[in-house]
Amino acid sequence: MIIFVPLFFYSMSNKLFFLISIALIGFSCKQNAQTNTPSKTVEKVVVPEFNPDSAYVYTATQVAFGSRVPNTPAHKACGNYLAGELRRLGAGVIEQEATLQTYDNQSIQAKNIIASFNRENKNRVLLCAHWDSRPYADNDANPENHRKPIDGANDGAGACGVLLEIARQIGEHSPNIGIDIILFDAEDWGEPQFDRRGRDGWCLGSEYWAQHPHVLNYTANYGILLDMVSAPNAQFYKEYFSMQYAPNVVKKVWEAAQVCGFSNYFINRQSGGIEDDHLQIFKHRKIPCIDIIQYDPNTSSGFGDYWHTLNDNMDRVSKETMKAVGQTVLYVIYNQ
Ligand SMILES: [Zn+2]
Repeated sequence: MIIFVPLFFYSMSNKLFFLISIALIGFSCKQNAQTNTPSKTVEKVVVPEFNPDSAYVYTATQVAFGSRVPNTPAHKACGNYLAGELRRLGAGVIEQEATLQTYDNQSIQAKNIIASFNRENKNRVLLCAHWDSRPYADNDANPENHRKPIDGANDGAGACGVLLEIARQIGEHSPNIGIDIILFDAEDWGEPQFDRRGRDGWCLGSEYWAQHPHVLNYTANYGILLDMVSAPNAQFYKEYFSMQYAPNVVKKVWEAAQVCGFSNYFINRQSGGIEDDHLQIFKHRKIPCIDIIQYDPNTSSGFGDYWHTLNDNMDRVSKETMKAVGQTVLYVIYNQ
């Protein structure tokens, strides 16, 4: 991922940091969401129960392929797995392939995986994450590891694991709206700290999709991007650009987290701006999209100290954190 940006300009390693201000068929996040009909009867919304064991297995399965770096056999195999699993869960799946240029002019074969439920429904919500893993552990304490690819368990696989479990629930209990789940490729091939060329190179897959959507003039009511949502005790702050472009969506999601009892994960404070896939979605498609992304004010990167290191492995995957995120998102879309 990502890059933070300016204000009290403090520059981090390979990102600029912007410190601007500085159920259910079981679980019910206090099911107080109600719909008033003209006759004043109250309809109870049933939100499926997010299963964190399932999300964990989806995450571990991705990591077991090896680093999902474009142009590698592991990447290709994992992409086929993700698309196949989404089809098995009942989605209509488009595999959008493209040849993209990295910051250092390498051609990579990228694939955005687009899974749609209730295709005819014009009332749509977009959920997304990136499925590739970073080719460089350039934040690793050991310089000998800087050119090695990372597992990307938290940075990539975990968010896709959460979305696959959400897809499983949607396949079993259809919501009243249409849902598109997009797993973007080539998010994390941004220029490493050891090879600065002045071209950042992040978010290539989402940029391509936003400029060439799978449906002509594609739009959605709003979008929710998940990135780095599985680490133990992760906390999510209200990201600056999300607050700028989609404050109502931030409000909706943070209120849902509170109703579901996850305010210890979704913090009622703002963080700096982060360059991530949501900006491409807003820029090219004008869809208000937020980024639920881990923020840690106690590290120099703003992310966990395992970020872009070889330590971003399965030890950075917590069922509790994935439950908090997955249940909150399910609550939002089933109360739409
Ligand atoms: Zn990353």
